[in-house]
Amino acid sequence: MNASKDNEAVKVRLLGLDREALERQCVEWGQKPFRARQLLRWIHQRGAADFDAMTDLAHDFRRVLAQRACIEAPAVLADHESADGTRKWLLDVGSGNAVETVFIPEVDRGTLCVSTQAGCAVNCLFCSTGKQGFARNLRADEIVAQVWHAKRALGRDDDETRTPSPLRAVTNVVFMGMGEPLQNYSATLAALHLLLDDHAYGLSRRRVTVSTSGVVPMIDRLREDCPVALAVSLHAPDDALRDRLVPLNRKYPLAELMGACRRYLERAPRDFVTFEYVMLDGVNDSDAQADALLACVRGVPCKFNLIPFNPFPNSGLRRSTDARIRAFAQRLLDAGIVTTVRRTRGDDIDAACGQLAGEVQDRTRLREREQRTRSVERTRRSAVEGIRP
Ligand code: SAH
Ligand code: SF4
Repeated sequence: MNASKDNEAVKVRLLGLDREALERQCVEWGQKPFRARQLLRWIHQRGAADFDAMTDLAHDFRRVLAQRACIEAPAVLADHESADGTRKWLLDVGSGNAVETVFIPEVDRGTLCVSTQAGCAVNCLFCSTGKQGFARNLRADEIVAQVWHAKRALGRDDDETRTPSPLRAVTNVVFMGMGEPLQNYSATLAALHLLLDDHAYGLSRRRVTVSTSGVVPMIDRLREDCPVALAVSLHAPDDALRDRLVPLNRKYPLAELMGACRRYLERAPRDFVTFEYVMLDGVNDSDAQADALLACVRGVPCKFNLIPFNPFPNSGLRRSTDARIRAFAQRLLDAGIVTTVRRTRGDDIDAACGQLAGEVQDRTRLREREQRTRSVERTRRSAVEGIRP
C-alpha cells in the first residue's frame, strides 16, 4: 500500500509514485497528466515537502493535494558524520525497525547507499543485517525517501559555511544498504524509475547500481524492465562454500548465476558485472580459491571488488590480512581482471552494512552505542587536528 493514514483519511504517499503512477493519480484527481511532471520536479529536484510552495499549481489543486496526499520521509533516529566525511542516517520505519542510508563523498562523486528492506531473509553468514532476520520490505516511498532526505540534508549543509570539498551532491546511488533489492522487486523498480527520470533525479543508468546476492529470475526481470549497473555478491568460487556463505546459492547455484550475468550484460549500461567478494580469513581467501574463482567467472566480462570483512560481535569470522588481500587481488589482476579493494569508509561510525540498525530495538544499547560512536569520532578528529600545522 502506498498510502498513509492521517486524520482517518488515507493519504497517497507521493514519494513512492514514479511518473506513470503519478500521471494516473493526477488524472484520478481530475488533472491533466502533465501535472505529474511538475509535481516530480517540485518534490525530487527542489525537495519540496509543502504543497503551498508549489506556486505554479492552481490553488484548488494544491488544496486537493494537501487533503489527499503527503510528502513524508521516515523520521531520522540518528545522524552521524565520520571523520572521513562519510555520513550515515538511521531512519525509523516503525515497529522498532530502523534502516540506514550512507553517503560517501569523494572528490569526483557522491555515492548514496540505500536500503530496501528492514532486515534480510537471505541470511548470509558474514552479514549482520542477515543475522537480524527479516522484518519487512520497504515501500517505494521509503526507498526514495532516503535519496530525497539525503539531498535535502546535504543541500542544507552546503548553505552553512562548510568546507566545499569533497563533493556534497548525490551523483551515484547504490542499492547496497540493508536488504536484498531483488527480493523487494516492485518497490525497487519504482525507485529506479524515479532515480532515472529526468523530471526527478535524472541519474544515468551507469550511475545507479543494484547489488544482489543472486536472485536469478529477478536479474532477468531487471534486464527487461530497467537495466542499470549490476553488482553481484559472489564471495565464493564453488557451490559447496557459497551454499554456506550465501544460502540463496542452494536455490540458484553458480552456473545459473553466471548464465544470468551473461544475459544481463546484453542489455546493461556497462559492459561488465561487478563481483563483490568479502575477504574472510582462512575461509575464501587462498590462492587456490582465487584460481577457482577465475575459472568460475570465465566468459563473464567482470570487475572484482574485494571487501575486507567488517567484523561484528559473535560473527565467528575474521577479516583477511592486508597481505592476503593484496596477494588475492594480484592473482586476479595477473589474469587481466580489473580488481579493486574497497577502502573501509566511515569505520568509526560502522557505516559498512547493517552495523548500527540491528541495535535500535534496544534503545539503551543504541544510546550507549551513540555515545561510543561520538567518542570515537572525537578521538579521530582530535588526532587529525593534532597533526595540522
Ligand atoms: N543484499 C545485497 C545488497 C546489500 S549487501 C547483496 O548482498 O548484494 C551489500 C554488500 O555488503 C554485499 O556485497 C555484502 O556481501 C556486503 N557485506 C555484508 N556484510 C558484510 C560484512 N560484514 N563485511 C563486509 N561486507 C559485507
Ligand atoms: Fe541480505 Fe545482502 Fe546481507 Fe546477504 S549480504 S544477508 S543478501 S543484505
